Amino acid sequence: MEIFKGVPVSGGVVVGQAFVLDGQDAGRVPERFVRRDETAREIERYRAAVEAARKQVEALAEQAAQKLGEGAGSIFDAHSWILNDKALHKDIAQRIERNRFTAEYAVSRAFRRYGQAFTAMKDDYLAARVHDVQDIEQRLLGNLTGARAQDLSEVKGQVIVVAHDLTPSQTAAFPKDKVLGFACDVGGPTSHSAILARARQLPAVVGLEKASSSITTGTTLIIDGNRGLVVVSPDRKTLTRYRRAAERLAAFEASIAREKDLPAVSADGLGFNVFANMEFPEEVDSILDHGADGVGLFRTEFLYLRSGRMPTEEEHYEAYASTARRLGQKPLVIRTFDLGADKVAWEHDVPTREQNPFLGCRSIRLSQHRPDIFRVQLRAILRAAGEYANISVMVPMITVPAELAWTRQQLAKVGDELAGEGRKVPSRLRVGMMVEVPAAALQAGCFASQADFFSIGTNDLIQYTLAVDRTNQTVAGLYNPANPAVLALIRATIDAGRSAGIPVAMCGEMAGDPLYAVLLAGMGLREFSVTPPLVPELKKIIRSIRVDRAKRVAAELGSCSSPELVISRLRQELETALPGAGNSVADLDAGT
Ligand code: PEP
Ligand code: MG
Repeated sequence: MEIFKGVPVSGGVVVGQAFVLDGQDAGRVPERFVRRDETAREIERYRAAVEAARKQVEALAEQAAQKLGEGAGSIFDAHSWILNDKALHKDIAQRIERNRFTAEYAVSRAFRRYGQAFTAMKDDYLAARVHDVQDIEQRLLGNLTGARAQDLSEVKGQVIVVAHDLTPSQTAAFPKDKVLGFACDVGGPTSHSAILARARQLPAVVGLEKASSSITTGTTLIIDGNRGLVVVSPDRKTLTRYRRAAERLAAFEASIAREKDLPAVSADGLGFNVFANMEFPEEVDSILDHGADGVGLFRTEFLYLRSGRMPTEEEHYEAYASTARRLGQKPLVIRTFDLGADKVAWEHDVPTREQNPFLGCRSIRLSQHRPDIFRVQLRAILRAAGEYANISVMVPMITVPAELAWTRQQLAKVGDELAGEGRKVPSRLRVGMMVEVPAAALQAGCFASQADFFSIGTNDLIQYTLAVDRTNQTVAGLYNPANPAVLALIRATIDAGRSAGIPVAMCGEMAGDPLYAVLLAGMGLREFSVTPPLVPELKKIIRSIRVDRAKRVAAELGSCSSPELVISRLRQELETALPGAGNSVADLDAGT
């Protein structure tokens, strides 16, 4: 049994077989090792791969003979000859046994030498056989990694994905019925893959550094998404302990789910809204099912990421209109595309290799850079909003007021265009902005007169305030919502919004962390937008909060409190408000 420690990004516990995705360099077989007691199994895997290759080659020879005549079948003689080379088999078995290489790595190393020997031959015919060598190498690797194919759709049963890194589009494309959870070498708590994991309720741990090169496909794993642990080949005692913990967590969640449709009204009678964040139109049923008051953030960039091409105006329109229709009276906040940085969808004529992509041509900056693409999205939003009054629009990464003014101009222009075509457009559309850049939070008072509402994007606000990349596990320890500088900016934004009389929501991951509910309520936040599965728990916590008490806590945790003090004080509050909330570690540890 081996335990890897990483960054917990999506709660829950899951047990399953590993499926290692070799995403970075398809042509290279990663240098991987097995434990001494696993070498016999690796040799067995290699033998099975050779046996399968023999059968495949025979079948191919037969097909060729049938289609092209007897002589054609002999093309594969060299393949059979390589597959029957005893010295080669011995070499590979020794590499596995002595060096503890995985079968794949042993094959790639041995075939590299084998191929070099052929290339060096003086005889042209023999030198040309190097292609047969490469062909057989690929066939063996293909057989060995059959279960390791990059395409998860070929996987039988359910697996835990292990990868060096996962892009948001890879995570978005996970077949729902196949993936139980995932573990990555890199990544931070608010990377978009982590956000998707939470939305899809997949336990996940990132920042494991060497997991993908140490774990082999087929190994049993436990993903402990609460504590950030990956247990490799767990012993029986550990397995039992985790299975029990998983049952307890499920029971806790089920008890909360029963009250999901009760309104989010505090114990002293103040009304809150708990909205959901969404990425895909098909999530709307689950959002309603979790008792959300509407959608506070529709991350529309996933429409681009999922299809890997530019969605048409009709596709945009269908996504927005169907979501708005399904929500009925409940509000839908459509955020214009936030592409760039870690969400790159197409060759968008921006230097794809920006030195600092998070500080580069991202979000509204990309919209300004490519108004032609932006226009397609705005047309669809306005058409949908013309029909469904619950729609409003939100602009990401606003840094200077001119960006918001520009967006309003574009909306007016597109509105005129649509009206000219005889289409219905809304008489008035609410235009809000994300407050996720410190410059905007510091000047929130100035923005408040231009925006119809604010939504605080803490994922980016924390990253930009603390100069800590949200996707980098090495600095994940610095990524702290309780940092007083972050709290000061949140407070300033809420105050500015309230003074100007515009609603202020929070849609970053901090909003869904039960720990901060009391503090945020005390600061005056009344609208939260969170990953759908977190809605019932947050509503329940809000129902147990007394806002007057929350205000005192917020005042007590003034601008100079250390993050440690803030966290320990808020833990006490949460334990009083809702014992066992937040998938608490204590709950899991109870059975250890
Ligand atoms: C945020 O930055 O907090 C946010 C909600 O936006 P995203 O995570 O999509 O960048
Ligand atoms: Mg953001």
